Amino acid sequence: MNTVAPHGLHHVTAIAGEPQRNVDFYTQVLGLRLVKRTVNFDAPDTYHLYYGDEAGQPSTLLTFFPWRGVPRGRNGTGMTTATAFSVPEGSVGWWHQRLTAHGVPVEEPTSRAGEDVVSFRDPDGMVIDLVAAPGDVRSGWDGAANIPADRAVRGLHAITLSERLLDPTAEMLLARLGMQLGGEDGARARFAMAGGGSGALIDVAAVDTDRGLQAGGTVHHVAFRAPDLATMTRWRDELVDAGVQVTEILDRQYFLSIYFREPGGVLFEIATDTPGFTVDEPLLELGRSLKLPPWLEPTREEIAAALPPLEVIP
Ligand code: ZN
Repeated sequence: MNTVAPHGLHHVTAIAGEPQRNVDFYTQVLGLRLVKRTVNFDAPDTYHLYYGDEAGQPSTLLTFFPWRGVPRGRNGTGMTTATAFSVPEGSVGWWHQRLTAHGVPVEEPTSRAGEDVVSFRDPDGMVIDLVAAPGDVRSGWDGAANIPADRAVRGLHAITLSERLLDPTAEMLLARLGMQLGGEDGARARFAMAGGGSGALIDVAAVDTDRGLQAGGTVHHVAFRAPDLATMTRWRDELVDAGVQVTEILDRQYFLSIYFREPGGVLFEIATDTPGFTVDEPLLELGRSLKLPPWLEPTREEIAAALPPLEVIP
């Protein structure tokens, strides 16, 4: 039995196509803040774009590797098939109207397990849910144009994993990641971190479909929160002792990370809350210019020249 448990979702990372379209959608339509413009540290010829609340706090973050011309992926088993954000109570109808007005393919608002939700696809086909979550005290980003603060997206709410089998994944979430079973409904189970609540929920659905195809419009990995390096180190040791294949601790500049796969194939990450996005630029200037980690600075010119231009309306 492990002794370390996450206190919520840290971020979700997905694959997108055209970077400018990605920025325009997430900042101008959904109203998130671009909190970091950097590159994929493992493939520095592509951007890594981070969106979140004002400071890009863990649990508010959705990040993308945008690749021009990337083929469209397909949801299926062994994948994170939905990413839900929390919006204020009573604002699902407002969001439905806003998304419709922007030409977004959006479904009619509905109620799922007692939660009001509106579901849509982003320009790359990624499934996003907005859930009216009571009791979410996060403030979101109130600087977005045309979005009143009392409608603003608060942060991540929950993610949905689609799996061929529910039990092996459930076993890892409960025994290795210290989560609690929040509820079960046939082929679907909800797991909670640190008591649950918005930003600390995982739904696992057992489905009888083909394996997914990871490409444009699909989630690449999901990260959980560890407060600091000491906790993550202990956690890594426990995973290794349990026979899980875990990477070394990697320096991601804004947090430290380890990666491993859950039994159904979804890539999990554990990321530290520190040091955060103000480590290399001031809060007011987040996302305005290309930031590189120290080990990529010597090749800044080549890297910048290979990236498509990106215009962000602050
Ligand atoms: Zn990540």
